[in-house]
Amino acid sequence: MKLFRKPEVLILKEDHLAKDYLDNLEELVKKAPEPLQMKIKKEIELVRAGIIGENKILFELKNCGMDMVVLHDISISDGQEMAQIDFYVITPKINFMIECKNLYGDIVVNHKGEFIRKYELFGKKYREGFYSPVTQNQRHLQILKNIKLQNQSIATRFIVERSFDDFHKSLIVLANPQTIIHDKYAKKEIKEQIIRADQLGQTIKRINKESKELKSNLNEMVKKGQRILELDQNNDFYKRKYQQFLKEIETYQIDVCPRCGHKLIYRKGRYGAFLGCSQYPLCKFTKNL
Ligand SMILES: [Zn+2]
Repeated sequence: MKLFRKPEVLILKEDHLAKDYLDNLEELVKKAPEPLQMKIKKEIELVRAGIIGENKILFELKNCGMDMVVLHDISISDGQEMAQIDFYVITPKINFMIECKNLYGDIVVNHKGEFIRKYELFGKKYREGFYSPVTQNQRHLQILKNIKLQNQSIATRFIVERSFDDFHKSLIVLANPQTIIHDKYAKKEIKEQIIRADQLGQTIKRINKESKELKSNLNEMVKKGQRILELDQNNDFYKRKYQQFLKEIETYQIDVCPRCGHKLIYRKGRYGAFLGCSQYPLCKFTKNL
């Protein structure tokens, strides 16, 4: 008799760093000088959207109906570069490197593989190119591969070189159901990597089904997950971003003339150096150092 059990989804790492970052930004925006508030608000929207998107992906993974081990929000480094990974998902045959994008508006992927986003925020229209998540995710895979190659015998290196791509797949998941992708001119291998959140389960299943590799059982998958978790740098990615905003606020207050908004510059006078408005003589604001 064959025993059936329910598929298990084990979350080895579920993080709340982004949520903390969001809380901090919401406090910061109240203190920020007006011209910087918009920039912080934009960041808040992006982080909030990111969290919603990642929750959606977690939901899809949990309901996929397949054994898997999930690592969320980890960072690894090969000694040269750092990879901030949204999701690393270990399934019986394939490990998925998942980059989550929860973007407003339409996304254009052109024949060169460039990504352009068109969206509206606070009544303003934006059109901006952004770093290709496909390239970004390839970098993440490359960094993982570099780590696996480190301190290995020639034989092991040979195996890793030959088999890494068979076991590892990149997926870019667009979490916003309203996003329209225009990728008519994008190359096939790029198109294949870009999916919607509600396609995630079926895509993972299909790729597993198509793979000729041997299946791992749940125990082996957990071991693989633990090995990745050991690489996690627990880095201060968000802390550093927050510090940047803080610094910008501080320098902003020093650098800008409170009367006219132009730059304050250092000037030398009879009684020593002082800060003066760059618009002098139109604006005569000065401030002692
Ligand atoms: Zn001034």
